[in-house]
Amino acid sequence: MAFIDRSARALFLGEIVSGMALTLRYFFKRKVTLNYPYEKGPLSPRFRGEHALRRYPNGEERCIACKLCEAICPALAITIEAEPREDGSRRTTRYDIDMVKCIYCGYCQEACPVDAIVEGPNYEFATETREELLYNKDKLLANGDRWERQIAANLAADAPYR
Ligand code: SF4
Ligand code: SF4
Repeated sequence: MAFIDRSARALFLGEIVSGMALTLRYFFKRKVTLNYPYEKGPLSPRFRGEHALRRYPNGEERCIACKLCEAICPALAITIEAEPREDGSRRTTRYDIDMVKCIYCGYCQEACPVDAIVEGPNYEFATETREELLYNKDKLLANGDRWERQIAANLAADAPYR
């Protein structure tokens, strides 16, 4: 009985020593964790975050209301209404995305012929209510205005691989 106790104690001490050695080994290494939200990791240019509608540098909306994004969306999250303007160009009068339905597949961005709808780099858009995640055109254009510089840089970085 005493023999079992001694071997069990030795085993226990051995585990403690190896555990402390492991702790010490990692104590001086570079940390693999981030102190989020104060620290943030790098994002791929292909990261599919919050949606945005983009404009051309002159302020004109890129979207030509072709509705390809609406047609391809597997979650039926996009709703578009459109009508011709006085100058004959076609523009949306309504562009909604139900961000609760969205599965962030990126198909809308892939389908868009003019890079108007994109999934930008923002992933910090949690809300307290479902209603806040029903995005309309104003919200999407505001996202585009806010993130345009980074979106354009990401699209340029990814262009050789598309
Ligand atoms: S990312 Fe996919 S699911 Fe979301 S709106 Fe675009 S096509 Fe629809
Ligand atoms: S966002 Fe792009 S794909 Fe969707 S309606 Fe506008 S131009 Fe067409």
